[in-house]
Amino acid sequence: MRKVSIFGATGSIGQNTIDLIRRAPGAYDVVALTGGANIARLAEDAIALQADVAVTAYDDRLPDLRAALAGSGVEAAAGQAALVEAAARPADWIMSAIVGAAGLAPGLEALKHGTTLALANKESLVCAGRLLLETAEKHSARLLPVDSEHSAVFQGLVGEDIEAVERIVITASGGAFRDWPLEDLPKATLAQASSHPNWDMGQRITIDSASMFNKALEVIETREYFGVRPDQIEVLVHPESLVHALVGFNDGALMAHLGAADMRHAIGYALHWPDRQHLPVERLDLARIGQLNFRAPDPARYPALRQAYEVMERGGMMGAAFNAAKEQALDAFIAGRIPFTGMAAVTEAVLERFAAESSLIDAAMTLDNVTRVDHLARQEAARAAEKQIG
Ligand code: NAD
Ligand code: MG
Repeated sequence: MRKVSIFGATGSIGQNTIDLIRRAPGAYDVVALTGGANIARLAEDAIALQADVAVTAYDDRLPDLRAALAGSGVEAAAGQAALVEAAARPADWIMSAIVGAAGLAPGLEALKHGTTLALANKESLVCAGRLLLETAEKHSARLLPVDSEHSAVFQGLVGEDIEAVERIVITASGGAFRDWPLEDLPKATLAQASSHPNWDMGQRITIDSASMFNKALEVIETREYFGVRPDQIEVLVHPESLVHALVGFNDGALMAHLGAADMRHAIGYALHWPDRQHLPVERLDLARIGQLNFRAPDPARYPALRQAYEVMERGGMMGAAFNAAKEQALDAFIAGRIPFTGMAAVTEAVLERFAAESSLIDAAMTLDNVTRVDHLARQEAARAAEKQIG
């Protein structure tokens, strides 16, 4: 039996991972499941999967979790230190599906123990890509991409030499507002931004898809994971979300990866890698689909994309500042404090403010320094959001 843990088990990626694990009774021995405030979901799954331990991120929810697990034999734990401790428990494969920079510390810990880390938590690569890759290398651990675009690229590179790659194209649905008149964007509501045309995902990444902050993070994720130059990475709007990415080679060949918009594809590929196994996902009927559409992203609609290239250009720990500013701006939008278009204004202000902060941005990339940059960028972003409120 393979020992597996799932971080962010109660979320959209976590639940899809559990779905695959449940379909193979006897194949997996579940070590740890972690979640946040949804104690009922966490406890129910931990009991059903007979996990060794269930961890909530929130200290004050420990009594609830204990009560929900009473008599089940599943251990209860809470808080940041408990998350890191759970990541240190021996496992063959860990799903990293916490949302946001909070996924970094447990992910790093898992790699330090040589565990294979299936990485849905793109924010940790954006914040500290080099640190994650170096930690993986040092401890002979493996990082497998779970983002659909990066899984697609990874699959397109099997048996290929990265030196022969000219460009990597990742697709974007264009999000909820791709066809809205630009002047209406400031009026976009939270409910409108929280509904995705093609994918069923957590609320934060759904809003980030409408603003393309998600694609901005993914451009940086592509650079970090595959080690290509920024000018080799392209974003293509593809409203059907069936082609997930394309890899362009030096002989002009462009290899596309197609599949249904179902995250169990990418999760399953990472779970069974290097093999392929049957997955319970829809098979595409291209004759019925008939046509696929592509267009260049409109820079005026998606300022976050330009910011991603600026972040890569600046280098150092600018990714950590950008991600933290984005998380803070998203919180402010969700709380109704700033308009939809105010989010990119917040990240813009933080990037400007940090560009010249060499002692901060160019310091050694350690977890402590990344955490410091993250913290300061959130403060700066909160100030920029306050200014908008007036
Ligand atoms: P989600 O909001 O549905 O779930 C997030 C999970 O993280 C939950 O289990 C939650 O309890 C936990 N969590 C939240 N804040 C936490 C904190 N501070 N500390 C510890 N745990 C915390 O999110 P999701 O859509 O499943 O996304 C998870 C990750 O996967 C994100 O990084 C996202 O960008 C990435 N991703 C998601 C999809 C998708 O289809 N949902 C696709 C590609 C990549
Ligand atoms: Mg993606």
